[in-house]
Amino acid sequence: MTVAASPVTLDDWFARDLGGLHQPWQPEPAPSPEAVVVNDGLAAELGLDADALRSPEGVAVLAGAAVPAGATPVAQAYAGHQFGNYSPRLGDGRALLLGELTDPEGRRRDLHLKGSGRTPFARGGDGKAPLGPMLREYVVSEAMHALGIPTTRSLAVATTGEPVVRDGRRQPGAVLARVASSHLRVGTFQYAAASGDVDLLRRLTEHAIARHHPEAADAENPPLALLQAVVEAQARLVAQWMDVGFVHGVMNTDNMTISGETIDYGPCAFLDAFDPATVYSSIDHGGRYAYGNQPRIAQWNLARFAESLLAVIDDDPENAITPATDAVSAFAESFTRHRAAGLHAKIGLTGEQHGELVEDLVTLMATEHPDHTRFLRGLATAARGDAGPVRDLVVDRGAVDAWLERWRAALEGQDRAVDESAAAMDRVNPVYIPRNHQVEAALTAAVDGDLDPFRRLVDVVTRPYDERPGLEEYATGDPSGTGYVTYCGT
Ligand code: AMP
Ligand code: MG
Repeated sequence: MTVAASPVTLDDWFARDLGGLHQPWQPEPAPSPEAVVVNDGLAAELGLDADALRSPEGVAVLAGAAVPAGATPVAQAYAGHQFGNYSPRLGDGRALLLGELTDPEGRRRDLHLKGSGRTPFARGGDGKAPLGPMLREYVVSEAMHALGIPTTRSLAVATTGEPVVRDGRRQPGAVLARVASSHLRVGTFQYAAASGDVDLLRRLTEHAIARHHPEAADAENPPLALLQAVVEAQARLVAQWMDVGFVHGVMNTDNMTISGETIDYGPCAFLDAFDPATVYSSIDHGGRYAYGNQPRIAQWNLARFAESLLAVIDDDPENAITPATDAVSAFAESFTRHRAAGLHAKIGLTGEQHGELVEDLVTLMATEHPDHTRFLRGLATAARGDAGPVRDLVVDRGAVDAWLERWRAALEGQDRAVDESAAAMDRVNPVYIPRNHQVEAALTAAVDGDLDPFRRLVDVVTRPYDERPGLEEYATGDPSGTGYVTYCGT
C-alpha cells in the first residue's frame, strides 16, 4: 500500500483510546482512482486545500488507493438492532475510519471512507459501493446541512476504476469520503455492553462525553448525564427531520449517532405529499420507519442505548433502571417542545403559545395531503395576501380557509409586522429540497457519465431558501405522480 504525500494530517484518538472497538485495516487497492466530486466549501471549512484533494495524491487518499502518512485506518466494531432484530456483530463491513482531523475552529472531525473494500466485519458483503448511492448520500447530506440539520458531511466521491454489480447491473465502484463529528453510534455502546468488559464500556462512555457532551463530565452521574444529553440531541434532530419532511428510512440502532448528527443515507427520501404513513424503502414492509413513526422509533433506539449504559450508570445495574427509564421518557416532552417550536417558526409565530393552531395545521395536512414543502413555503405568500398557492394544494378549501383565518388573526396579533413574519418564514421554509425524481434523474445521468444534472442539483439544494428564477422544476414534486420507492441495494 502506497503512502501518499498527504493532503491531510490525521490523529488517531479513537484507535488509541478504544482498542477492543475496532480492527486496524487497510483499504482495498483502487486500480484507477478518479475524483467525481470534491466539496470545496467543506474542504475550506476543514482547513484542507481542495486543489490538493484533486491532485493525484489527494484522489488516491479519497478513493482508498493510498493511506495518508501516519494514519492508522480502522474498521469500527458495532452491534445493532436492524428492524428490531439484534445483530451482535455488524461493524464497518465496507468502511474505514482513516482518522481525525482538527478543523480551524478546533473541532475534531472523523475522516471516513465508505466503499473502500471488505473488512473483517464484511460478512457476505463485497465491501464495495456503487457510484449512484454514494452520490445520493453526497447530495442528500449536503442538502440536510444547508437546511441547518445536524448531519455527517460529504467531502468527496471518487471512483475506484473497478465495477460493482448490484441486481445484475454494473456500475462504477465508488468511495465516499465522509466527515462526521464522530462515528460513535448507539450500536457502538451495544457492542461494548455485550462484550461484558465494563472497563471498555466505561472508556467508551468517557470518550463520548469528552468528545460530544463535555458538560456531562461535571454531572453527579456522568453516564446518566450522557444519556440525557443524547436523548435531548436526538429529540431535537428528529424534530428537525419532521419539520422538513425527511424520512430516514433505516433507523436501526447502528444508524443513530451519539453526536446527534444524521448518519447513513441509504433509502432516505423527502416527502412530497404530506402523509405520516409515508414509507419509501422497498424493504420496510411493516412501515416501521414511516415518516410519522420516526419519533417513536428514536425513543425505542434510545431505550436500547439506556440499556447498554446500565452497568456504568450504577455498579448495581438494578439501581440504574429507574433513572435510565426516566431519561428515556423525557424524550417525548423534549421532542414535542422542539417540534412545536419548529412549527411555530414555520408559520411565522414568535413564542409558543399557539399549540392548538399548530396541531390543527398538522391534522389538516394529514387529511389533505398537500405537497409538504410547497404548502409551508406558500404560507408566506398567504401572509402577504395571496392564499392561492396554498388553496391550490388542497381539496377542502373551506377547511384551509378556516385555518388561514385563525392563523392570520394570530399573525396580526403579534408585535412584529406581518411582512416581517413572512420574511422570517422564508428563512425556515425551503423552496428546494432534494426532490425524489430529481435525485433519481441526476444519479442516472451521473452513472451514465453526465455529471451536469448532479452538479446543478447540488447547487440548487445547498441554497434551499432563496427562490431563484429558472429553477421552477426543482420546486415541485414528481410531475408523473408515480409512487417513489428506494432500494437498499446500496
Ligand atoms: P447499513 O444498512 O448501511 O447501515 O449497513 C448495515 C451493515 O451492513 C453495516 O455493518 C455495513 O458495514 C454492512 N454493509 C453494507 N453494505 C455492505 C457491503 N457491500 N459489503 C460489506 N458490508 C456491507
Ligand atoms: Mg449503517
